[in-house]
Amino acid sequence: MLSILRRIVQDVDSAESFRAALDIIVSAVHEALGTEVCSIYLRDPIQQRFVFAATKGLNAELAGAVALPEGQGLVGLVGRRATPVNLQDATAHPDFHFVEALGEEAFSAFLGVPIIHHRAVIGVLVVQQRQQRRFDEPEESFLVTLAAQLAGAVNQARATGEIATILGDFNSLPNRLFDGIGGSPGIVIGEAVVVSPAVSLDAVPDRTVDDTAVEIAIFDRAINSVRGDIRRISEEFSSSLPPEELALFDAYLHMLDDTALAGDIRRRIEKGQWAQGALRQVIREHVRRFEDMQDAYLRERGDDVRELGLRVLSYLQDIRTRTSHFPEHTILVGDDVTPSLLANVPANRLKGIVSLRGSRNSHVAILARALGIPAVMGAVELPLLRVDGERLIVDGHQGQVILRPTEQRLHEYELLLREEEEFSRELEELREQPCVTLDGQRVRLWVNIGLTGDISRSLDRGAEGIGLFRTEIPFMTRDRFPSEAEQTAIYRKHMVAFEPRPVTMRTLDIGGDKALSYFPIQEENPFLGWRGIRVTLDHPEIFTVQVRAMLRANAGLEGILRIMLPMISSVHEIDEAKALVERAFREVNEEGVMVKRPQLGVLIEVPAAVYQADALAKRMDFLAVGSNDLTQYMLAVDRNNPRVASLYQDFHPAVLAALREVGRAAHRQDKPVGICGEMAGTPMGAVLLMAMGYDVLSMNATHLPRAKWILQRISRTGGRRLLAQVLKMQTAEEVLSFMEAQLLAAGLGRALPRTLAHSCASGPAEATGQDASSARTEN
Ligand code: PEP
Ligand code: MG
Repeated sequence: MLSILRRIVQDVDSAESFRAALDIIVSAVHEALGTEVCSIYLRDPIQQRFVFAATKGLNAELAGAVALPEGQGLVGLVGRRATPVNLQDATAHPDFHFVEALGEEAFSAFLGVPIIHHRAVIGVLVVQQRQQRRFDEPEESFLVTLAAQLAGAVNQARATGEIATILGDFNSLPNRLFDGIGGSPGIVIGEAVVVSPAVSLDAVPDRTVDDTAVEIAIFDRAINSVRGDIRRISEEFSSSLPPEELALFDAYLHMLDDTALAGDIRRRIEKGQWAQGALRQVIREHVRRFEDMQDAYLRERGDDVRELGLRVLSYLQDIRTRTSHFPEHTILVGDDVTPSLLANVPANRLKGIVSLRGSRNSHVAILARALGIPAVMGAVELPLLRVDGERLIVDGHQGQVILRPTEQRLHEYELLLREEEEFSRELEELREQPCVTLDGQRVRLWVNIGLTGDISRSLDRGAEGIGLFRTEIPFMTRDRFPSEAEQTAIYRKHMVAFEPRPVTMRTLDIGGDKALSYFPIQEENPFLGWRGIRVTLDHPEIFTVQVRAMLRANAGLEGILRIMLPMISSVHEIDEAKALVERAFREVNEEGVMVKRPQLGVLIEVPAAVYQADALAKRMDFLAVGSNDLTQYMLAVDRNNPRVASLYQDFHPAVLAALREVGRAAHRQDKPVGICGEMAGTPMGAVLLMAMGYDVLSMNATHLPRAKWILQRISRTGGRRLLAQVLKMQTAEEVLSFMEAQLLAAGLGRALPRTLAHSCASGPAEATGQDASSARTEN
């Protein structure tokens, strides 16, 4: 059975279209189980019905033409129960609903299994037989296993919009609402520009062009560049490779001829498809043809075609990037928008980001917050291939995207935007004011920084220091490690700009999801692997150069240099790191640059560090909590994974208890404690952390004025009263709704994110009420 399953899944993966994939499934199941009928029904979330999508055994001509209301029939029953329904005599079941056109009355035995994605039923797979019998257990588990594996393919078809050919094109309806996760607050209206990383042909969208001559010219340039590359490689290898291997390069060159791939692509461009889309379509077809071949050698040639396609794509994208026109209100949309993709868009045109992958704490979301650009992450249902050039509303507060908004919807959002702008103008007046609570408690509001562009934005918003300098960012934007002098220059620029305010430099924090192209780290489990201090202690040359650069950058300045160590999980690590810092300090002074001894601190990001906070505080000058990672590690929830995003809760009672414990431990040792995770910048987080006695809240500059506004309007005593209540609660939801109600009652609701009250028709999200990310149409 396993080999049959594998074969079906492979065939489905390489099917020419989604419709073809459905036909493959029903035929394969029909054959494997020897049943008389196998059919697939797909859920139409808008009209709340199951559409008869493919069959082997019933009238195939009706595929797409017959639909069953969700509340009716046995298919509806499978959908409602979200479990298999296995009946010996379906016609005798009270839910049996006779659809004349299908001619099902002749079939007694019925087995229907749900196809489920993210807890929501998105289709039903059915087998039927004339003879009265119950399908046996192996048959049922075969179908259940297959349905589980197919869920991804069906969902992919929903995301790409292919399913629309069967269910009707609901993506073209106005006001399509897609839920994701708020990655960066704010609301923006703009035009979608879909981008794809160079390595992925599958993510290239279809796009029609008017000027096909320009596209042909771009295509010809790309083909010529690839030809040049192949000839060069062939020459390089001519003396070391045997002639039969060298012949492969000739085969590649031949594939690029107009009589082969290039001709097919050119014809599609002439019909109005842009070069990248035409390339994707043709390569996909050729790869499939090879993969269908019986001969193993020929089957593998599909890989050659794919490889060639990628080479052409990377040139096409290069040419595009250089010549691409970005609209004035560009919303960058992609399967996985990475920090490097942001760099392609002129800064003054980039107004919003929508990423199908990633979550609130992905680094691109953090960057978006630093840049003050609204972002929605994990909008997994957005039909990526069909949104290019479309009008979008990106609501970064709510984590929602509205595709093709109506004039009325646009108007409502414009009003909201205006309200936000008004509040922001009011906040500007707080810039020079200190952050003091109503009863005189002083709280330091510092910023998290990483891009040089953040400096003026931070100072404009009244930052009193840098609480976290993410030094990996200048490392990520280069193609080699920056030298000591280069690092010194970057760091000094920040220190001079912030003088005499304190500057907290975090030592290089790579690993996890932060990779350097020139220092790849390949690991099975990167967040639990070689990350942060673990890398730099293993590479003292990198660590020492960085610390020397920090010390030199601070020379002659009044501002205090604080050096902070990420990902600490044992006291050995800080003992080792302290020794290296001490050595660097001595060296720099011996070289004649008179530098002050820096303050040293650790980032509390790992549960082990929470339980050793006293020991760590004793050895260091300060503690700071990295609550993004601490939440991830305490709750065992990947901060980047949209599937588990609803479990990533920084107001989880366990996280709050840990935060309080770290605060107390630091103060027991008479050391200051700060926090630089994202929760510090939320209105509720700021209030609770102030109440816990945190001395420094470090956040994105965007959030700072709002945090100050709220802290100036609340007392420490009042905050403590709220905290005492919160610490008795058992779920994050309880904490959030309590805090929201309290802040609203205290007249502080303006600091909370502005939202529209939406009334939405049911869609996949409502099937169970728990779908983390989904799509629907607004009323
Ligand atoms: C954190 O983990 O909270 C933190 C501040 O560091 P980063 O988000 O860069 O991992
Ligand atoms: Mg961290």
